[in-house]
Amino acid sequence: VITINHLYKSFGKLEVLKDFNLKLFEGENLVLMGKSGSGKSVMIKCLVGLMEADKGDIKVLGKDISKLKQNELDELRTKIGFLFQGSALYDSMTVRQNLEFPLRRHSHNTEKKTEELVKEALANVGLPDTIDLMPAELSGGMQRRIALARALILKPKIIIYDEPTTGLDPITAKEIILLMMNIQKKYATSSLIITHDVDCARVISNRMILLLEGKDYAEGNFKDLATSKDPKIKAFFK
Ligand code: ATP
Ligand code: MG
Repeated sequence: VITINHLYKSFGKLEVLKDFNLKLFEGENLVLMGKSGSGKSVMIKCLVGLMEADKGDIKVLGKDISKLKQNELDELRTKIGFLFQGSALYDSMTVRQNLEFPLRRHSHNTEKKTEELVKEALANVGLPDTIDLMPAELSGGMQRRIALARALILKPKIIIYDEPTTGLDPITAKEIILLMMNIQKKYATSSLIITHDVDCARVISNRMILLLEGKDYAEGNFKDLATSKDPKIKAFFK
């Protein structure tokens, strides 16, 4: 569902992505790990057309994103759900308004249908009673769940998680991971998960890509990578 070939992106002299390649297959959970500053977020921005790559091909759901017009790109983006780094809810909106936002912007539903979809999304993340609360009235873990509900509300084909468990205690992190797995089952989405959390990678990944020093990378399943003798790879699993 995603193919990135020979992607390059620099900022002045800083080469962030150099011949980066990635494939996300239908229905899989691909975990991407890499040091802070290795270009993971830049890669995602290129992937959804928020940033222009210097060179390379990016195909999402069969479409070459560099060839899309703005309205086609907007349409494609509705098929990709995002859980941004942090939870990034709109602080001045209620939970209901946060969830309605993508619906009103990208789809045409009756008020009744909108309400139904919001309630369904909240039930999916186990927080049906938060509908009229403000984000500040929720715990960090609850905010993350609401952000996840919002990312899913347009029933995307692909979900991109940028550090879904960062900043949460281990128990809440585990709950989020279980929720991600349930969602995967229920909607048969394909997921790209960026994380520094080894436990998250162990539980959720079908396949992993590690961005190593010097723009090199390693690919494989969790078990093979976690038992690798290569010191560069071992460093990720300390
Ligand atoms: P983290 O794990 O901390 O989230 P990351 O792998 O997501 O890190 P990026 O945010 O992709 O890292 O940033 C990669 C590099 O690109 C960093 O050195 C950053 O300073 C640089 N960078 C990102 N965006 C820009 C920009 N718009 N202009 C200039 N430099 C940028
Ligand atoms: Mg990042």
